[in-house]
Amino acid sequence: MKFIILVGPPGAGKGTQAKLLQETLGLPQISTGDLFRFNLKNETELGQLAQTFMDRGELVPDEVTVAMVEDRLSMDDCAAGAILDGFPRTLAQARALDELLAKFGGKIDVVPSIEVPLDALVERLLNRAVLEGRADDNEETIRTRMQVYEDQTKPLLDYYGQKGLVSLVNGQQTIEDVQKDLVKVVEEATQPA
Ligand code: AMP
Repeated sequence: MKFIILVGPPGAGKGTQAKLLQETLGLPQISTGDLFRFNLKNETELGQLAQTFMDRGELVPDEVTVAMVEDRLSMDDCAAGAILDGFPRTLAQARALDELLAKFGGKIDVVPSIEVPLDALVERLLNRAVLEGRADDNEETIRTRMQVYEDQTKPLLDYYGQKGLVSLVNGQQTIEDVQKDLVKVVEEATQPA
C-alpha cells in the first residue's frame, strides 16, 4: 500500500493537486475536509459535531477525525493506498496514522510540502471564498486556520522530516507546474533504488 501525504497551509492548493494526482497515480484522494463537508451537507451526527469547529476554523477533535479516516481507509478502493489531503494535521493524528498503517500493512512513501508564503495565501483564500462560497473562507476564520496550521500542523514537517519523507514543492507556480513537480517527487520516492 502506497501513501502520499500532501502537506501545506490552507490555500496552498492541496485539494486541486491531490485531485489531479489521483488520476496519474491511480490512487483515491482522501480529503478529511471534504468528508466533513459531505457529512455537514447530509446533516449526519458527525457533520453536526464537526460544524462548530469548522465554522470557527478550528480542528475537529483527533479521535473523531481518526475514526473517520479509519473507516475510509477500510474501504475497498484504498486497497493499494491513497493520497491523503488535509490529514494528518496534528502530531497525535500522525501517530494514529502510523498505527493504522501498521494494522493495514501500508507505508508512507513521501510527504510533499507545498510551499506558499503567508501573504499570498490570504489573498488566495479570499478569492476562493468568492468562487466556491466556502463558509469558512472569511477573513477571521482564515486567520485562525493559518494560526492552527503554524501551531499544530507545521510540526509534522519535523516529524516526517526526521523519517526522511519530506520533499518541498514550490506552490507559487501554475497548477500544471506544481503538478509536474509533485509527480516527479512521488516517482523519485517510489522508484526502486
Ligand atoms: P480543509 O478543507 O482541509 O481546509 O478543512 C476544512 C476544515 O475541516 C478545517 O478547518 C477543520 O475544521 C476540519 N478538518 C479537516 N481536516 C481535518 C483534520 N485532519 N483534523 C481536524 N479537523 C480537520
